Amino acid sequence: MDTIVLKFGGSSIADNEKLQLVANRITKLYNKGNKIVVILSAQGKTTDKLIEEAKELSPTINNRELDSLLSSGEQVSISKLGILLNSMGYQAISLNGWQAGIYTDNNNQNAIIKRIDTTRIIQELNNDKIVIIAGFQGINENMDITTLGRGGSDTTAIAIAAALKAKNCYIFSDVDGVYTSDPNRVAEAKKLAALSYEEMMEISSEGAKVLHNRSVEIGEKFKIPIITKSTFNNKAGTIISDIIEENTVKSIIKKDVSRISIVGNGIIRNFSIIQKVLHFIENNKLDMLNFEVSESKISVTFKDIIPDIVLSNIHEKILNEK
Ligand code: ADP
Ligand code: ASP
Ligand code: MG
Repeated sequence: MDTIVLKFGGSSIADNEKLQLVANRITKLYNKGNKIVVILSAQGKTTDKLIEEAKELSPTINNRELDSLLSSGEQVSISKLGILLNSMGYQAISLNGWQAGIYTDNNNQNAIIKRIDTTRIIQELNNDKIVIIAGFQGINENMDITTLGRGGSDTTAIAIAAALKAKNCYIFSDVDGVYTSDPNRVAEAKKLAALSYEEMMEISSEGAKVLHNRSVEIGEKFKIPIITKSTFNNKAGTIISDIIEENTVKSIIKKDVSRISIVGNGIIRNFSIIQKVLHFIENNKLDMLNFEVSESKISVTFKDIIPDIVLSNIHEKILNEK
């Protein structure tokens, strides 16, 4: 019997009708005799809404509480799917991250999975249950809930597939594969049949949302073939694996990023400033794409657009702090 991991993103489960389509897909694969593990995101734009609601409450949000709040979106989707599958006559059980044995580090909102204790998952699979697991969340050593960063359900799915030595991991979303560019922005973009892990890691870290970048790293490390497909049609998707040995262009990506530059003659020799900048980035857990130092400039390019408060904080740190 093969174990297959299926992950459905927010747009795939946005309402009851879509949840039913997802349930039908799951039961079809289950009826073929596979052991099925399903990973779900929060429904639709739930996570965005929760973040907005937290911001309305406070400009300085407590990180532990925020993770507890954000993880609630996935708890809602897994239990709804559990209710639906059981009502269709299938034995299904939903598990939150902690129930599924997903242990992470302490990095709130950007936690890294340290290990997965698969005991409970395997026990439920051996009882022929369809196991539904909340994506995007785990617990740290204090048994507090953590989240893995935006889009992190992909990482949950591939990490679970690796821990279970699954045959492969399907990532279902609103697009039927990985394209030569974002198909929602470039009408002429073409679907790719196959990609190497390395190519996909580059595409993801340049900001194509289609797969969370850490998920692809795990896929490569444990050699789990990743198949991206549409939830809403049966067209062939894109397979991400080790194969591939050509040198053609696979994708063109536009990403809006922030860049902060610190200018001053001879800055290349001012190690205290260079160190201050690096410490600032580390202490504020900012994700860098690039760090450059030249004769009279330090430039940092960040992975995402960062708020203006970061600019005033770094200004304070470098120009006003003794
Ligand atoms: P989910 O909510 O299912 O996790 P995401 O929104 O995170 O789905 O990812 C799917 C989106 O990724 C698509 O709607 C598409 O706009 C975007 N995307 C960006 N670049 C690409 C690409 N090269 N190929 C396919 N989709 C892409
Ligand atoms: N719900 C989370 C988010 O919106 C995780 C995910 O969708 O993968 O970022
Ligand atoms: Mg996603």
